[in-house]
Amino acid sequence: MVAWRQEAVTQQRTLAQRVACTGLGLHTGQPVRLSLSPARVNTGIRFIRHTDGVEYETPVIAGSVSATHHATTLGCGDASVSTVEHLLASLHGLQIHNAIVGVDGPEVPVMDGSAEAFVHLIETAGVYEQHEVQPVLRIDRKVEFRSEGRSISIEPARHFQISYRIDFKHPTIGVQQIEIDRLNPAIFQAEIARARTFGFLEEVEALQRAGLGLGGSLGNTVVLDRNGVMNPGGLRFGDEFVRHKVLDLMGDLALLGAPVVGRVRVDRGGHALHYGLVLEVLAQSSSWTMVGESVRGVKKITAPNSGVPSL
Ligand SMILES: [Zn+2]
Repeated sequence: MVAWRQEAVTQQRTLAQRVACTGLGLHTGQPVRLSLSPARVNTGIRFIRHTDGVEYETPVIAGSVSATHHATTLGCGDASVSTVEHLLASLHGLQIHNAIVGVDGPEVPVMDGSAEAFVHLIETAGVYEQHEVQPVLRIDRKVEFRSEGRSISIEPARHFQISYRIDFKHPTIGVQQIEIDRLNPAIFQAEIARARTFGFLEEVEALQRAGLGLGGSLGNTVVLDRNGVMNPGGLRFGDEFVRHKVLDLMGDLALLGAPVVGRVRVDRGGHALHYGLVLEVLAQSSSWTMVGESVRGVKKITAPNSGVPSL
C-alpha cells in the first residue's frame, strides 16, 4: 500500500519557462505559432487562441471537445483549435499538469507528425515541480465503451497501463499489438513519442480534394499506397502504426483532466472511441476515486482500497 502511494501521488508540475515554435497546420497548410507557458497550480492545461487581437481561452476538459473526426478539436468558432492530440499526449506523457498553450491559428502545428518536436520543446523549457499534490483518477471498477464492433475499456491496475491492438487489411500493417505495463515519461519518450501519424494514399487524396490535409506531406505523415510505405526513409519502428495509436490515446485521455491509474485496453481504436471512453468514465463516477484531492484546503490522501488487484 505504501509503495502504491509513492507511485501514484506526485507533485504538480509545470514548465520552468516559456518556449515557442512555428510549424505548418496539417489541414490549412498555413504556418502556426505555438507557445507553451508555465501556469499556477490547479490550472490544468488551457489553450489560448489569438485571433485579430482577441484571446479565446479553452480548458482541456471533455466538455470542450467539438469534434473527433480525423483529429480532436477543442472549442467552437473563432476559439476552436484542432489537432491538439499530439501536443496533449506530450504534456500528458511527460507529466506536465499545468500549462498555457498559445496558438495564433485554428490548429496545432503538425511538425513531423509525431510528438518528438513537442517533447523537445518541453525539454528545452525544463520542468518545475510545484508545491501541491497532483490528484490522480484511480479506477476502482471496469468501465467499457463499444462502438461498431470496436471496443475500449479501463480497469483497476497499480499503474497507468495500456494494451492496444489494431487490425488493418493493409499488408504493411495487419494486426499489431502493444502492451505497456508502466507508462512513465522515459517509456513515453523512448517508445511512443516518435511514432508518426499515418494515412492511405487514396484517403489523403480525398481529404485534399475536400480542402483538408493541405499541409500534409511525406515529411509529416507515413503514407501507404497498395505496395507499402511511400516515405523514402521507411518506418521508425516496425510497429509504428500501433505506437502512434497509443500516442493519440495519451492525448485523448488528457481530457479526463487528471492522470489516470488503471489499465486501458483498446481494440481497433481511434479518436471517437477514445473520447467515448472518457465520457463513459466521467459519467460513471462511482467507478473511480480522485486520490490526493484537496478539500477546503485540507489535503486528503486516500489510500487505495484492498480491492485493487496486483498485475
Ligand atoms: Zn495522431
